[in-house]
Amino acid sequence: MTASVGAVTQADYTATNVIAEIPGRSRPEEIVLFGAHLDSQDLGTGALDNGVNVVMLINIARQITRLGLQPERTIRFALWNGEEQNLDGSWKYTEQHESELDHHIVAASFDIGSGRTTGFFTGGRPDLVPLVDSYLAPVAGLGPFQQIDIPLVGTDNFDFMVEGVSNLIAIQSDANYASNYHAESDTFDKVDQQQLRLNSAISAVVIWGFANDSARLPRMTHDEITTLINATDLEQQMKNMAVWDGWANGTRGKHD
Ligand SMILES: [Zn+2]
Repeated sequence: MTASVGAVTQADYTATNVIAEIPGRSRPEEIVLFGAHLDSQDLGTGALDNGVNVVMLINIARQITRLGLQPERTIRFALWNGEEQNLDGSWKYTEQHESELDHHIVAASFDIGSGRTTGFFTGGRPDLVPLVDSYLAPVAGLGPFQQIDIPLVGTDNFDFMVEGVSNLIAIQSDANYASNYHAESDTFDKVDQQQLRLNSAISAVVIWGFANDSARLPRMTHDEITTLINATDLEQQMKNMAVWDGWANGTRGKHD
């Protein structure tokens, strides 16, 4: 059997992130950033990867606004573009907002479909674990939850990690994510709408926890980021995702 793939390379185009924020009341310069990527592989419609988490963040932003809640810190919602190419949207954000990164308390990504949120990857920053544990306490009944403190490359937390900003990825049960991954079958009928609502509650308390706490981890230095890379399998992960060269040649990440 012969398969014929009619792939074409089209001209460069401009893609934009969608950013919205709820200003902080007492410490507006401190930013807690929660994001999901807006683009998708275009075989299906990208419902699980990653429309479902885009919808979740928009819903949380709407609910906080509707309730008239004012966080102490600024909550910034980011719908990234170009994630599927080269994590481009979040990478360019870190460049354009470089002067603010010292004040980014956390940057979190949601990108694993609509399976149950079971905790967060905390990126090789063990001090984040007790914070996330405490923020999740109000929804303990939707648990159990467990944070896993390993650094991961693969979604829009990456450029924040190599910039030394505390970063999270929501851990979700696979459910039907892998079986529809980047496939024609990734369509709306695969979304678990009930679990999506529960994930929204779980994510909202973590966002609210970060937005109102006074605890903050310092931004890592270049040497500390290098130590993390050397102590883990990050170099291999970065090579697998074709982002190692950017770090090595100084075009990505914190180098001063
Ligand atoms: Zn994705």
